[in-house]
Amino acid sequence: MSEQPGAVGSPWSAGVERVADGSVAVAGVRVAELAVRFGTPLYVLDEADLRGRARSYREAFEAAFAQVGAEVDVYYAGKAFLSIAVARWVHDEGLAVDTATGGELAVALAAGVPGDRIGLHGNNKSDDEIAAAIDAGVGRIVADSLVEIARLSAAATTRGAEVPVMVRVTTGVHAGGHEHIATAHEDQKFGLSLAHDDDADSPAMTGLLAVLAAPGLRLVGIHSHIGSQILEPDGFVVAARRVLALRAELAERTGVLVDEVDLGGGYGAAYLPGEVPLDPDRIAKEIAQGVDAAAHELGTPLPRFSIEPGRSIVGPAGLTLYTVGTVKPVRLDGGFVRTYVSVDGGMSDNIRPALYGARYHAEVVGRSSSAAMVPARVVGKHCESGDIVVHDVALPADVAAGDLLAVPVTGAYGRSMASTYNLVPRPAVVAVRDGQARVLVRRDTIADLLALDQG
Ligand SMILES: *Cc1c(COP(=O)(O)O)cnc(C)c1O
Repeated sequence: MSEQPGAVGSPWSAGVERVADGSVAVAGVRVAELAVRFGTPLYVLDEADLRGRARSYREAFEAAFAQVGAEVDVYYAGKAFLSIAVARWVHDEGLAVDTATGGELAVALAAGVPGDRIGLHGNNKSDDEIAAAIDAGVGRIVADSLVEIARLSAAATTRGAEVPVMVRVTTGVHAGGHEHIATAHEDQKFGLSLAHDDDADSPAMTGLLAVLAAPGLRLVGIHSHIGSQILEPDGFVVAARRVLALRAELAERTGVLVDEVDLGGGYGAAYLPGEVPLDPDRIAKEIAQGVDAAAHELGTPLPRFSIEPGRSIVGPAGLTLYTVGTVKPVRLDGGFVRTYVSVDGGMSDNIRPALYGARYHAEVVGRSSSAAMVPARVVGKHCESGDIVVHDVALPADVAAGDLLAVPVTGAYGRSMASTYNLVPRPAVVAVRDGQARVLVRRDTIADLLALDQG
């Protein structure tokens, strides 16, 4: 590994190391052993690293918000990757769990996460999902539209329940791409906009008033999520200011000062060697100071806060282990040769390069090599030329069939977005800790795929 695993500038989890024979081990287990025992492709999660990241987010935000006299909850965004074990780990580390579907909710509940430590999101929740969330006593359902507020109220009253509801608002801040454009009418599906004409309430204000008036609902918070892969704090602060201003306006109009503000997720991960990841301590401090200043200007006390990191906790804790198959030099115009290295997975286990042009790194991990490094592209086995795992990476010129190759930072949105495209079974997820490996999610089998087919 070119950089010290786990250190700033390394995409590898803290438990990754090159051992004496030149191969790589994860938390004390050699990749060759993982490949033999569990097969490849294989998602490998470094449990201690994942727990450490969960803890560092919680501790950083608790400390920074305590400095300004506010409390904060960290919700792990389960959509990044959720299994029963992962839900337990983050719960152990003091995090709550965010879910966005009935499936994610079921996994969190199967893990024994108490209902009041679970949130339910979603822009199009089904009646069954709403019912399951109410029956589980979730701590919050995040309402995404006016029609949903009416549906939540109906479901609550039918059950004689009082349902805690947050209202998701869109602040016009988009980070991770175009930074905080002024509040505008937005052309996207999530939340209720803060934008409005002079003579009308914003959809966000209308939603808050609707929850206050709705039988069976208790307004517990205002929610804002501004994007993904965010590396700077200012977008969060601008969005928080707008949410706090809305909260102050609601208090002025109704006397109700909403208890909690959720600032969403989107904390970035470092995917490539040399990239500097977000420092939770720094971003927590800057957000805490920003919201404190905003609350002072508005003359309202600070609410309780929550945040919802997903990728930044599970992404860097994971890697994907592949076996190299075909290696093909491809001569491009000008005589440049790119070595195409095919692996035994591809876009079915990591759709992000095809979906977002996401960049990854790769190394040969089954052995060391003193061969010269050559420009390479790691591609999958699927029937698409866009089936690329790593666009550009230097690999040893002697890379050959049978080599083990690892791609770091695939813990988030790898298995959770996996498909069975080309009827390729989805890889297993294995956790490694203290020299022990165990399966968290088993590999699909061809028999699984056939069993779904009713002929
Ligand atoms: C996707 C999402 C998250 C998590 O995003 P990450 O980029 O994985 O941190 C959190 N909250 C909401 C509402 C989301 O949609």
